[in-house]
Amino acid sequence: MKVKIRRELLEYLLELAREFYPNEVAGFLREKDGVLEEVLLVPKGYFGSSSVYFDLTLLPHDESIKGTFHSHPSPFPYPSKGDLMFFSKFGGVHIIVAFPYTKDSVKAFRSDGSEVELEVVE
Ligand SMILES: [Zn+2]
Repeated sequence: MKVKIRRELLEYLLELAREFYPNEVAGFLREKDGVLEEVLLVPKGYFGSSSVYFDLTLLPHDESIKGTFHSHPSPFPYPSKGDLMFFSKFGGVHIIVAFPYTKDSVKAFRSDGSEVELEVVE
């Protein structure tokens, strides 16, 4: 099964990643009718430079949050050990955007770390 993401959201995530480079940026992803539509940014200082450290106590009680997104300042869009640990705790879908932050450097993963295809919808 593919993960669907709205084109505007994907473009916004790429823009954010470029803006924050060489730091990481991270956020929670909101889904509506099976499509990822929105990002809630995690405040700066709550994630590190080599892997994400989302503070889950910051997570709003919001049933529409179905995943996370974060950027990698390296050209390697695969989860680190820390990422995998976090993914497994959180569940859902996780998008990693790697340098140089183009559509080819975006990958999506399930909570077990397996890659899942991302489908861009208009
Ligand atoms: Zn990472």
